Amino acid sequence: MSKYQHIKQSAYEANMKLPKLGLVLFTFGNVSAADRELGVFAIKPSGVPYEDLSPEKMVIVDFDGKTIEGDLRPSSDTLTHAVLYKHWDHINGIVHTHSTYATAWAQTQRDIPIFGTTHADHITVDVPCAPPMSDEMIAGDYEYQTGFQIMDCFKEKGLSYEEVEMVLVGNHAPFTWGKTADKAVYNSAVLETVAQMAYLTEQINPQAPRLKDALIKKHFERKHGPNSYYGQ
Ligand SMILES: [Zn+2]
Repeated sequence: MSKYQHIKQSAYEANMKLPKLGLVLFTFGNVSAADRELGVFAIKPSGVPYEDLSPEKMVIVDFDGKTIEGDLRPSSDTLTHAVLYKHWDHINGIVHTHSTYATAWAQTQRDIPIFGTTHADHITVDVPCAPPMSDEMIAGDYEYQTGFQIMDCFKEKGLSYEEVEMVLVGNHAPFTWGKTADKAVYNSAVLETVAQMAYLTEQINPQAPRLKDALIKKHFERKHGPNSYYGQ
């Protein structure tokens, strides 16, 4: 048995949740699961329909994007995953989808405003939208540069990847991550719901105000403060 079996299994299970949660169509989307000690991650192969996936078909890749084990080609977004794992030490799972509402926001190139407590329970800032990539980045190593575009956006906005486990890439779609592949999938579903709610909020009232600071603070402290009780 492969010594990477555990991450192949978690990557497989996490990938299979995407169609169940309505986050992907056809072969769109991919999840990876990393093992930091082994310095590798397991990722969905490119172009294989979800119903044909199995743990054995997951491809093992190192943090430089080199394939270590597997007969299939890894997902075309593999280099974005590799860059994020290499630079962000505390994540072990990454998800990329073109889920409808989050992608629609990415296409408008807007951050998703924090309108309500559903949003605040997960992140206490607007969901960041990285600007569309420059022509040079697009012409170069596109997927590799997408990873840097995400990290640059976090640097510029002064965000912590451990506090904010989601981003929109302008004109493209969302990426989410977490301490496990499962948590990254959870974040992907949360982001899609928050994106849908924010869209509806602006439809009902284009002047809807952002969530008040007192509520943002309350929800932040519920989750992070010394007396945190959220999720119990
Ligand atoms: Zn994509």
